[in-house]
Amino acid sequence: MSTPRYIVNTDLDATLLDHDTYSWQPAAEAIGMLKERGIPLILNSSKTLAEMQELAGELGLNHPLVCENGAFIAFPRSGEFEEEYIREHFTNVEVDDAYILCHLGISRDQFIGAMNTLREENEDYQFLGYADWSVEQVAEHTGLPIEKAELSKARKGTEPIHWHGSEEAFEEFEQELRLRKLKCVAGGRFIHISGLSDKAHGMQALSELYGKRSAEMVVTIALGDSPNDLGMLSAADIAVVIPNKVALEPSAHEVIKATLHGPAGWNASIKSILER
Ligand SMILES: [Mg+2]
Repeated sequence: MSTPRYIVNTDLDATLLDHDTYSWQPAAEAIGMLKERGIPLILNSSKTLAEMQELAGELGLNHPLVCENGAFIAFPRSGEFEEEYIREHFTNVEVDDAYILCHLGISRDQFIGAMNTLREENEDYQFLGYADWSVEQVAEHTGLPIEKAELSKARKGTEPIHWHGSEEAFEEFEQELRLRKLKCVAGGRFIHISGLSDKAHGMQALSELYGKRSAEMVVTIALGDSPNDLGMLSAADIAVVIPNKVALEPSAHEVIKATLHGPAGWNASIKSILER
């Protein structure tokens, strides 16, 4: 039996990165094994491209990145996929110096105007968000240092807001957004407005692209620790659940529950799959 073509998709915080120290070092051995075997390691996170870029560089990865909870895929222009090939597969494409950005839904640039119009036209829709704030204000609202706040403010797919109106008004606002193919997801500090795609869509779009280029059967592995990873884990062929507060029960074909937290659990689980 030939080995399948593995594609690994991973969440970052509390999965590949230690919850407290943000270190990925305990996973270094398994990361090395993936590289040796030419298995793509896809970082798939709620973070912005600006936030993920540095880590990808540190890890020596030049694969596509799934950013801002699946809002878009960033293909390195020096990566394994040609711009022409990418454009054949995606419609909402934006090119910058280093990356080709493929929006899987409506981009932030495209929906911020609609949000502002709704706010101007209805005095009950009271909210403030990243688009209204300076870097200093983002730092204040997130607790991030200024240089990190700057990376967090470089958003392309999602808009975090604070709602200041009534609950009824929010329900109405959410309805208006839904009509515009936008969604609201409540997070710890903010409500996140975005297009309709998620981490699973990003993962699946990439597995399809890699699959088209591969003679072998593609087997998608996903690793995650929290409810916003559940869709991605369930859509994978092999789901690796990294233990955290909420016990996840993904519906993937095969589920591996890591016993160790964060990158140590990541390391052991990936090794166990590769050593089969
Ligand atoms: Mg996480």
